[in-house]
Amino acid sequence: MATPSSSSSSSATATATPHVVICGGGVIGACTAYFLSTKSSSAPRITIIERSSIACGASGKAGGFLAFDWCSPPLSDLARASFLLHGSLSLALSGVSAYGYRPLHTISLPIHPHPPHRQSPPRSLPSWIDAPTAGPPRTIGTPETTAQVHPYLFTQTLISASSAEVVIGEVARVEVVQDRATAVVLKDGREIPAHAVVLALGPWSSRSPILSSLFGISTLKAHSIVLRPRDPNAISPHALFLSYQDSPGAPTLDPEVYPRPTGEVYICGMSQELEVPEDPSTIEGDPESIKMLHKIAGKVSSHLKDGEAEVVAEQACFLPCSDDGLPVIGEMPGIEKCYVATGHSCWGILNGPATGAAVAELILEGRSTTVDITPFSPSRFLGRRKGKVAV
Ligand SMILES: Cc1cc2nc3c(=O)[nH]c(=O)nc-3n(C[C@H](O)[C@H](O)[C@H](O)COP(=O)(O)OP(=O)(O)OC[C@H]3O[C@@H](n4cnc5c(N)ncnc54)[C@H](O)[C@@H]3O)c2cc1C
Repeated sequence: MATPSSSSSSSATATATPHVVICGGGVIGACTAYFLSTKSSSAPRITIIERSSIACGASGKAGGFLAFDWCSPPLSDLARASFLLHGSLSLALSGVSAYGYRPLHTISLPIHPHPPHRQSPPRSLPSWIDAPTAGPPRTIGTPETTAQVHPYLFTQTLISASSAEVVIGEVARVEVVQDRATAVVLKDGREIPAHAVVLALGPWSSRSPILSSLFGISTLKAHSIVLRPRDPNAISPHALFLSYQDSPGAPTLDPEVYPRPTGEVYICGMSQELEVPEDPSTIEGDPESIKMLHKIAGKVSSHLKDGEAEVVAEQACFLPCSDDGLPVIGEMPGIEKCYVATGHSCWGILNGPATGAAVAELILEGRSTTVDITPFSPSRFLGRRKGKVAV
């Protein structure tokens, strides 16, 4: 995505208002745009370039589960800062749009697919969960430590609140002049001058030569279904982390169930390492995986059985996973004003806010104060991989 160039005629460096171009309209791009718009009295002009549509990938199809203290160091500081920012964002943005933020209880529950005897669910479970359990439920989160958002609505809301211009187009490359990013060039030939470029391409980071010359992003495909039970009021705000073995000797699955304030229930699981296709709009769920999620939903609750709940969505999307499992956040070594924010794996909705705030501070003030992002610097890969960034 980067090419050397001696021409700076279209460079934004000559223009007055700083212009930040964010490549990728997922939750990471959206959070970066939002905090760029709020961190400074003289906010820069912000453009988001999105290939397909805003939140078309994992950021629109994720669970949206948030946890204060489930990540271990060095991710824990980013997660804690993000969890607290989610709380304050929900207050700051409630006038703009409701995006389903709410604190909730979280339970871990082993489900028995074929109980040996007729068995009542433990009394400690909410009444809508009538699953045959293979062991006692365990409280693993309280409304003080776990919460949720609707990720698609959250991403959309942040972009609207940032007043960023959204350009639908495919980023082909970053123009680099004298080791400094100066513009983004689209596949259709349009060139967008920039004072700073942020690459927030999620699973598609692996297709960017500028990023993949320094580090790898592998991709994991995961499935989800969204159901609307006939009586949404019967479903209480309890997130469920299940373990489920379909038959003796079958692998143990770990699906997750998230009731939403919209009256829908989201169920996800069934993941597999696969390469992300070029076009996000072509991603479809594997029928067997979708069938298994419906089966598990019906085991958990009779409100979610086939025929009892409307099917709102059956879908799949890809997680971006870095070589060492940590996000990659910071300025690209050797290319001034070219920033990366990717590799958030299964915690991108949680960790979006502190990531976006940190990248905004880095661009506007030269250093991040919200959270120490040194452990996530792309420079950690120098010497580990090919060692030289492709420009
Ligand atoms: C099933 C599932 C459940 C999940 N549940 C949770 C959860 O409960 N909590 C949590 O915190 N996280 C969760 N996650 C993880 C979270 O969804 C991701 O970490 C996060 O969405 C990644 O955001 P992103 O912005 O980096 O990438 P994406 O959302 O993939 O956005 C990248 C964007 O870049 C665009 N793009 C790519 N290439 C180009 C190009 N060349 N030009 C222009 N645009 C381009 C894409 O079209 C895409 O819109 C879940 C993920 C999955 C798959």
